[in-house]
Amino acid sequence: MQTIVIAGGGAGGLELATRLGDTLGKSGRARIILVDRSPAHFWKPLLHTVASGKLDPQAHQIDYSAQAAEHGFHFVCGEVEGVDRARAVLQVGPRRAADGSEMQPARAIPYDRLVLAFGAVTNFYGTAGAADHALTLDHVQDAERFRQRFIAACMQASSRPAYTAVNIVIIGGGATGVELAAELSHAVRELARYRVHSLDPDSDVRVRLVERGDRLLPQLNPRLSRRAARHLRSLGVEVCTGSSVARVEADAVHDSDGNCYPSDITLWAAGVEAPRICVRLGLSLNRIRQVVVTPSLQTIDDPRIFALGDCSSHVCPVKGAALPPRAQVAHQQAMFLADLLARERPGELPHFRYRDYGSLVSLGPFAAVGSLAAATGREVLVGGWMARVLYRLMYRKHVLALHGFARMAVQTLAHWIGDKVTPPVRLH
Ligand SMILES: Cc1cc2nc3c(=O)[nH]c(=O)nc-3n(C[C@H](O)[C@H](O)[C@H](O)COP(=O)(O)OP(=O)(O)OC[C@H]3O[C@@H](n4cnc5c(N)ncnc54)[C@H](O)[C@@H]3O)c2cc1C
Repeated sequence: MQTIVIAGGGAGGLELATRLGDTLGKSGRARIILVDRSPAHFWKPLLHTVASGKLDPQAHQIDYSAQAAEHGFHFVCGEVEGVDRARAVLQVGPRRAADGSEMQPARAIPYDRLVLAFGAVTNFYGTAGAADHALTLDHVQDAERFRQRFIAACMQASSRPAYTAVNIVIIGGGATGVELAAELSHAVRELARYRVHSLDPDSDVRVRLVERGDRLLPQLNPRLSRRAARHLRSLGVEVCTGSSVARVEADAVHDSDGNCYPSDITLWAAGVEAPRICVRLGLSLNRIRQVVVTPSLQTIDDPRIFALGDCSSHVCPVKGAALPPRAQVAHQQAMFLADLLARERPGELPHFRYRDYGSLVSLGPFAAVGSLAAATGREVLVGGWMARVLYRLMYRKHVLALHGFARMAVQTLAHWIGDKVTPPVRLH
């Protein structure tokens, strides 16, 4: 029986493990092993709502061990530290408790086929001081850290004899930056309503969004960029485009034109790169460390190793450009590999074809903007409540792939009830 190991249980890796466990694992046709450094999965596109305090990550996390038991795969918790390609063995470090003590020793997991699904991490592009002073949104823990700093900064400022405004600078006007800025504006108003602080939400908390390009959401249609910028300004967010950050300090952000933005909390959301582990694999990488793959998502150096999602570089043959680091790409690649790895007979491998269904960006609890790809190939721009509903469906689609329709429907109802009976912003 062959062993298929999936390294990384994110948007793509967990969907792949679930599908392969259901098709091959349960019937005993293959042994499927998922490895992740965390014990639970969280869908990263929701991180900005954890950072603003709107969403409790506990209610949306999926325990890998429980998912493995239900779907016929095995789960190993630990950090992948390397791959011995000559022996076809994945090296996994020890599993540690919160206090650092070792719960399980380091392990070596033999594989017949290996899928790399490590995702991506923040890319600071070598900007001075950014790694030391800016927060990031790579993991749930990062989002929690941001939330705690955000609430503490608001409370500290309001307890000073003379108010000093709380300055929050978000660097990067892509989807993450825009979504977080909108969520924070709403959270500040909710906190004021709950009298958590006595700051005036309109004047005492300043959220600045700093973007190097001449418009927000550069990957979307310019009309959507203008719409998003208008909406953010109506929420009180200061949108600074054409401002290239040169240095980040503990209490300020400086751009290359000499502008200085005071900052109590700085968040860097201006780009990603593949994690450092990719360098240790001895595989061909691009300039942001992504593993270069063939049209079948096989690494070009080792036919037994595949890579998907943000840690891989797949060049679309139609557009001639690398696919963007998006959940939609990771999902489609996971479904493609689930079929490819379940093939009984060897032969020429099929090629992955990405279908871009469009992009949606949340502008807070009540609005979103985006574009959808119509069947004719035309781009249809959407906004308002309709875009908001479609945006919410993206997450439900992920839950559907992991749990099936009945459980997804029950969970949706449970989350809806949870939203109604819990405060709109988490304080603890
Ligand atoms: C704040 C934010 C908002 C986003 N919003 C959107 C959006 O609206 N729409 C959209 O399409 N995309 C969005 N994205 C991008 C989307 O989340 C990613 O494209 C998608 O999650 C990639 O899936 P993946 O499976 O490649 O990796 P990930 O989902 O990042 O999963 C990687 C997994 O690998 C594990 N891992 C990493 N290194 C190791 C190691 N050494 N050992 C063991 N385990 C390891 C991690 O713990 C993680 O579970 C957003 C991303 C962020 C950060």
